[in-house]
Amino acid sequence: MKFNGRKLSVEAEKNWERLEEIPIKELIGSALRAREKAYAPYSGYAVGAALLTNELRIYTGCNIENAAYGPSICAERTAISKAVSEGWRRFKAIAIAGGPKGETISGYAYPCGVCRQVMREFTDPEQFLVIVAKNETDYRIYDLKELLPDSFGPESLNE
Ligand SMILES: [Zn+2]
Repeated sequence: MKFNGRKLSVEAEKNWERLEEIPIKELIGSALRAREKAYAPYSGYAVGAALLTNELRIYTGCNIENAAYGPSICAERTAISKAVSEGWRRFKAIAIAGGPKGETISGYAYPCGVCRQVMREFTDPEQFLVIVAKNETDYRIYDLKELLPDSFGPESLNE
């Protein structure tokens, strides 16, 4: 199976097949709805994310900015924090949709480096899928390993 001309890892491909249990459109739709809640008065860039747990629960998040800038948090980490704080730690996929607030999304919003590292903490990079979407029919899929190669994770501390 190929996405955007790239081949997913075997493990990611298996995960993709399992994803059919939750339609991809539902995950993207959840991210788009979460985007409407974004608090982005400084950047004007609104992002929504929808995280799918291994148990097929969806946790959403939006970016939440702050007047002091530093305390701002991305949509992806908001969603992961919500899920982990409620006891879920294994994830299949995350859908991300972002762009200038109030406008139709015209580009793909990729996760920042910090969010990629936080995803790494709770996922197998070869299995976890990152879906960047403009809308429910226009999206790209990556496995985390593509976005964060040669990464440092929890098991690295034991090597
Ligand atoms: Zn981020």
